[in-house]
Amino acid sequence: MARYTGSVCRLCRRENMKLFLKGDRCFSDKCAFDRRGYPPGQHGERRGRKISDYGIQLREKQKVKRMYGLTEKQFRLFFQRAHRQKGITGTNLLVLLERRLDNSVYRMGFVNSRIQGRHFVRHNHFTVNGKKVNIPSYLIKPGDVVEVREKSRKIQSIGDALDAVVRRGVPQWIDLEKDAFKGVVKGLPVREDLTMPIQEQLIVELYTK
Ligand code: SF4
Repeated sequence: MARYTGSVCRLCRRENMKLFLKGDRCFSDKCAFDRRGYPPGQHGERRGRKISDYGIQLREKQKVKRMYGLTEKQFRLFFQRAHRQKGITGTNLLVLLERRLDNSVYRMGFVNSRIQGRHFVRHNHFTVNGKKVNIPSYLIKPGDVVEVREKSRKIQSIGDALDAVVRRGVPQWIDLEKDAFKGVVKGLPVREDLTMPIQEQLIVELYTK
């Protein structure tokens, strides 16, 4: 299925939580979810609908998939990879998603959202260990050094994002050298690093039926 190109704020309203897909706007009083915190569409404001177990699992999967900006096919491939790994599948899945380069540059504060992260990675604004990498799904590993390329350091939105990173905070698995436009991956993220309310077990149940 093709990538969703409609209003991303509708996705937050649909999933009934802020997915932080629009950078600074998400923290402002223009946030559509804060203004209209009910599902979009004609019947959005209807309350009290019963939702099946399958529906609950589906919504959880959709929420995480939309948070990381993946298509169904990409998300399923990540799940399959997580399932093949040792350990808890749900945790493996979240760690794999966090290790994506488009997410990592967002966590490091070089961009304001994962969507912008994907866009900037594709446009060759970053290096990993000194080499150009323009694949958003590239998986970073401990010890990797991610840098904004010299020629990209003057881009206004990268500077703005770095100024705003204080508000979001940098996770403990990343060491950010803000002035050097550099992020070092200290280790793999662990489940406790992911503070968004995600019930990954529901996704595992959905895909392993
Ligand atoms: Fe979601 Fe951000 Fe839009 Fe608010 S502004 S609804 S958090 S994408």
